[in-house]
Amino acid sequence: MTQRKITIIGSMNMDMVVEAPRFPNGGETIIGNKISFIPGGKGANQAVAVARLGAPTTMIGAVGEDAFGQTLMDSLKETGVDVHYIKQSQTVSTGTASITLVPDENTIVVVPGANHELKADDIEKLESVISESDIILLQLEIPLETVEAAVDVAFKHHKTLILNPAPAQELPTELLKKIDYITPNESELETLTQMNRSEYSLDEMMDELLDKGIRCVITTLGADGVAWKQKDEQVRQISSHQVSVVDTTGAGDAFNGALAYFLSQGNSVEQAVSFANQVSALAVTKFGAQGGMPTLEAVKEYFR
Ligand code: ATP
Repeated sequence: MTQRKITIIGSMNMDMVVEAPRFPNGGETIIGNKISFIPGGKGANQAVAVARLGAPTTMIGAVGEDAFGQTLMDSLKETGVDVHYIKQSQTVSTGTASITLVPDENTIVVVPGANHELKADDIEKLESVISESDIILLQLEIPLETVEAAVDVAFKHHKTLILNPAPAQELPTELLKKIDYITPNESELETLTQMNRSEYSLDEMMDELLDKGIRCVITTLGADGVAWKQKDEQVRQISSHQVSVVDTTGAGDAFNGALAYFLSQGNSVEQAVSFANQVSALAVTKFGAQGGMPTLEAVKEYFR
């Protein structure tokens, strides 16, 4: 069987993680313990998740023409991701997340940088890349107009579209109705539906999105597992796997990458959700978002 192609359209960031004994006060300089540079961004994390599982994976995104951009491209390439269609901006720096970790707390400042340079017309120029893919996986860390352009092109070519609506924002119905699978966590589901979880059931909230024309709503529930619903069907829910948790960063990215991968292999929603629940459980047993993404062999070995 020819391998089905998955294209991820989204963000690429360099996460700069400073570990310090405490936060500095305004105007104060303190000495930190350690700094780490870790490739991140939801788009790149999801591309790594897909590539580790073994599918032909293409990344569409944007970085600056700088050292961070080169490092991010190199690390994706090493994982087997096709990086040919990543735009390199001459004017804007690679996106960064500056994270300060102190015992039991952290602060994060994200500068989207080049991620916001990925424009609708860049996507339109890559129509042939989208039309040659089987599944398109998107998040919301790039401009909404770019996401809309990608959805339009993919929809025109009848491609399966998965939208991970993170970070949360309200979305136009015109966009939502073209999506096959949407994968909010609980708080993203609240933002998308403008309904409060304390007042409405998951069922009612998912119906709100299904009524807009989405084929399937899949809500990840962290350590409580995952629920999903297709039009005119009951809500289904499975528990998460009991694992020794090391780092839950990127659990959602592992889930989305694995979902795309298993759907691309011709599996049902139920099978794909169950597989993604396994992959993301395994991902949280390792440190780092991209570093924790398991191979197919590792998943089979762990859950055999
Ligand atoms: P993040 O933003 O941290 O990437 P998210 O909010 O998008 O995460 P979650 O709902 O927290 O996504 O997690 C996604 C999936 O990962 C869950 O549905 C579950 O399958 C798995 N998962 C998350 N936390 C755990 C855990 N503690 N133990 C086992 N599996 C987990």
